[in-house]
Amino acid sequence: MPGPREDCLFCTLVREGTHVHAADGFVAINDINPLAPVHVLVLPEHHLDTFREIGELDAEEAKRMLEFVAETAEKVGLTDYRLVVNVGPGGGQTVYHLHWHILGGREMGHDL
Ligand code: AMP
Ligand code: ZN
Repeated sequence: MPGPREDCLFCTLVREGTHVHAADGFVAINDINPLAPVHVLVLPEHHLDTFREIGELDAEEAKRMLEFVAETAEKVGLTDYRLVVNVGPGGGQTVYHLHWHILGGREMGHDL
């Protein structure tokens, strides 16, 4: 399983950031540049560059990650929200440590 990367911002924030939720190898942080009233990022402790490498997590950890995303949304007070994972530069990814965006607190509409 991949370990922390010294040069990775999100590996550092997993260890030292302000977490709005943390459990079982996952943390959630507030996005520094929120695009909605609530904009939280879910980060696995294990470093994966992108969602493409999702197969490197074992089945239980992948399931737990999805449960943690749902738990985090509930914890920050959201029942309705949008989940986004940007994959690669063409998908808008700027930080190369897998993360889920949870966006809510306003009507999200259908526009991406
Ligand atoms: P992405 O473009 O999908 O890779 O998302 C990266 C996200 O990380 C962006 O929404 C940034 O605003 C956010 N971000 C960058 N640096 C920080 C930081 N130090 N703390 C919290 N969020 C950050
Ligand atoms: Zn990392």
